[in-house]
Amino acid sequence: MKEPVLNLSPSPGDEVKTTTCFMCACRCGIKVWLKDGRIRYIQGNPAHPVNQGVLCAKGSAGIMQHYSPARLSKPLLRVGERGSGEFREIEWDEAMQIATGWLAPIRERNPDELAFFTGRDQSQALTGWWAQQFGTINYAAHGGFCTVNMAAGGLYTLGGSFWEFGEPDWEYTQYLMLWGVAEDHDSNPIKLGLGKLKARGAKIVAVNPVRSGYGAIADEWIGIRPGTDGLFAFALIHELLKADRIDLDYLVRYANAHWLVVRNPGGADDGLFARDADGKPLCWDRNGHAAVDANRIDITPAVVGEHGLPDGRRVVPVFHLLAERYLDPAYSPDAVGERCGVPADTIRRIARELAATAFDSGLKLPIAWTDMHGRRHEEMIGRPVAMHAMRGISAHSNGFHTCRALHLLQLLLGAVDAPGSFRYQPPYPRSTPPGNRPGKVRKDNGALNHNPLGFVHAPEDLLVDADGAPRRIDHAYSWAYPLAAHGMMHTVIRNAWAGDPYRIDTLMLFMANMSWNSAMNTGEAMRMLTDKDAAGAYKIPHIIYADAYASEMVAYADLVLPDTTYLERHDCMSMLDRPISDADGAADAIRYPLLAMDAQDKQRDVRGFQSVLLELGARLKLPGMVDETGAPVYRDYADYIVNHQRAPGVGLLAGWRGADGAQEGKGAPNPRQIDAYIANGGFWRTEIPESARYYKMANRDYLEWSERMGFIVKTEQVVLQLYSETLQAFRLAAQGFGAVQPPEQHRERVAIYFDPLPIWYEPFEGMQTSSRDFPLSAVTQRPMFMYHAWGSQNAWLRQIATRNWMYLHPGTAAKYGIADEDWIHVDSHNGRITVQAKCVSNMQPDTVWTWNAIGKRRGAWKLDKEAPEGTKGFLLNHLISDRTPNGDYANADPVTGQAAWFDLRVRICKARPETESAPQFAPLPMGAVGNEPLRYGAAMRKRS
Ligand code: SF4
Repeated sequence: MKEPVLNLSPSPGDEVKTTTCFMCACRCGIKVWLKDGRIRYIQGNPAHPVNQGVLCAKGSAGIMQHYSPARLSKPLLRVGERGSGEFREIEWDEAMQIATGWLAPIRERNPDELAFFTGRDQSQALTGWWAQQFGTINYAAHGGFCTVNMAAGGLYTLGGSFWEFGEPDWEYTQYLMLWGVAEDHDSNPIKLGLGKLKARGAKIVAVNPVRSGYGAIADEWIGIRPGTDGLFAFALIHELLKADRIDLDYLVRYANAHWLVVRNPGGADDGLFARDADGKPLCWDRNGHAAVDANRIDITPAVVGEHGLPDGRRVVPVFHLLAERYLDPAYSPDAVGERCGVPADTIRRIARELAATAFDSGLKLPIAWTDMHGRRHEEMIGRPVAMHAMRGISAHSNGFHTCRALHLLQLLLGAVDAPGSFRYQPPYPRSTPPGNRPGKVRKDNGALNHNPLGFVHAPEDLLVDADGAPRRIDHAYSWAYPLAAHGMMHTVIRNAWAGDPYRIDTLMLFMANMSWNSAMNTGEAMRMLTDKDAAGAYKIPHIIYADAYASEMVAYADLVLPDTTYLERHDCMSMLDRPISDADGAADAIRYPLLAMDAQDKQRDVRGFQSVLLELGARLKLPGMVDETGAPVYRDYADYIVNHQRAPGVGLLAGWRGADGAQEGKGAPNPRQIDAYIANGGFWRTEIPESARYYKMANRDYLEWSERMGFIVKTEQVVLQLYSETLQAFRLAAQGFGAVQPPEQHRERVAIYFDPLPIWYEPFEGMQTSSRDFPLSAVTQRPMFMYHAWGSQNAWLRQIATRNWMYLHPGTAAKYGIADEDWIHVDSHNGRITVQAKCVSNMQPDTVWTWNAIGKRRGAWKLDKEAPEGTKGFLLNHLISDRTPNGDYANADPVTGQAAWFDLRVRICKARPETESAPQFAPLPMGAVGNEPLRYGAAMRKRS
């Protein structure tokens, strides 16, 4: 019998296009198959440097994101009361006229009356520049409530940071510690890396109160109590110092361990670095018995001991101070183990394991390299201990110092950018801190002198008035939150409502669900958004909101600008913002419109917000957005991506620059640049020369390459800051020194929390509430299968979970007489939720937890009003206050202003059986599509 001819690998579609996923923040490459003009199938792009073909559940469910019934389809103008969700559809021209009509007088009068805050978009290179050109200081993206502690802790210490700007050395790491890492950052790259480690038998240690995701495959899980990671790190440091298992050579070559610190208690120079007449830091030369330029290599620097300068001042090396502090018995494993929930013997063993792996592995790569002093090294010495950390340590009021503590631990092991350790991804490392300071002065053309976001180096850089009061609406860069490098989105609504420090006119938000899962104290946020003054006017006069979906926030807007999905617009993962680099190469990527509007989509009249923003800028005649005739400079965002230059030759994309596309890094705009990206699968990547791949902070080849590429402006060694003089400058100001000093009410706070060496303190909520009243910590975890509220409305991902539960340890549940699926009350100092419990043992017993952002307000996202997300799902946000319990400050880190979501303290008790979670809010009339099954692809199957 003749064998039938079977097509074992039928083509999924008519054509395939490559682009960048946006179902989470990782920016994987995807191949999108189209059939009859509709999306048929999404697969990972094997040629893409980020995911190498791997695709997660979220990525493949991008089809249902694109075809989501929750998509907005037309600009909307509010017709009912704010919050009612009553709108009328309007045309784009009317929408643009209204927006221009609100914004033009503001720009004329006082640009700071516009507060422009963006969420999880990937276009800050544009939005920050737009705000700068508008002239408002009130701009930020969502980093203030996400991970600014990680960013600032890293950038002020290492000139780089964890998260998506650095990575473990997956090829050589033998011991990986994951601290507070959920499954969203950096999802697929971490999965690939963990696979490599598992195959090699490397040890993975997960430090997290909850053993989910990556923790589940870790070799060891440390179920730490929330907010105590810093103490745990100090105990490890204590053990390493005690055993003299530290890399002193590394600390002197690459960090400031030997720099001399002035010891002059009560003096204006106390705690500052001793410097020579040219401002160069000094160290003590043990051979010459004198203070000399710390950068010299022909000396033997002392790292301990008190010395005298010729002018009589007493000085000690940084390392001396460090050893004094962390050798204190208060940081011993026995002293901290119980508070952390980690046995002292475990801490001692992990310290031994870290040291043994770092120092006894014998890892050396036979790669010659030259340092910034011109010394040639024949090999690269490995320290195969890597760390990666995320929001679990970051979202605490002690997160900045905890992040610095982890970096100190890495540095003592010599494990930053050495083979086997944490590695920088270009464009990092940069100077510590990076040189760009926040814009604060308006130029003659109304634009700010710099981007509104930047890095404060000294009190003089703060945005405060002559009395030391905040200048920004979110109070970022004020004495209350001086190093708020990402702004403080979580304070905007309260401050705008309260007129603190002044009234604004328009709040413009993009892709930020600020009345729901991105709000602390959700009920209050909704009240403030709708509150009116005595004359009956809204206290926040105008709210413009741009989003692709009918989120809870839409109901609180006056004007809604419907965005496209990620498969319909141009986007740019830029070197100026969030590139897709890895430790061996620089890379960036694009998205571009993949499909024409089909029959269903013809009902939609949506525009990419970035293009809308540029048109708005042109209508407002903002500098840089119109030419001398008043005509728009940029046709749309794609045109901006190609033609905008931030500095001569430096634009949003680094690949195929120059008129003929032959240059990379720097070069003139190339009109065919986007075509070149599309032809290359949507990304560009160039390899770092082999001799430049490690020790990047001091590697001459790397720093010269980085400068040639336009990533840094000076080829100076990046000296890693064990001790931060910037922090000490703030402390001195609080002690009454310097031209810019804090007002009286902030002095003590600044003096305490601006310690130049990392400290640990009880998170504020624990400090200001009684552990008898609120004995448990409550945290959220990000599910691997959903990314924020977007993913939890996705028809395919909803099949994995349509609701969340409050997870309790079985022992904890038994203690409170709670059984599986019982209803419970969960109380914080700020409120109560009533939810259903489930018992699971993958957690630290003094912690309760739930998935993030699955709970939805009824009627939002066009889900059925009886959808489980609304009836049984819930948010912890209802319990979380946006102020500290004593009400003095925002519920945030005192250094960076990072929102302290995970400081939450609660108590639990059994409740009567219920049918719905509480609180509930009035359902939104957002046009639910009913509870019919949402089908996709059946027609394609028939035709096939
Ligand atoms: S990890 Fe994120 S970016 Fe990558 S495929 Fe999954 S959802 Fe997309």
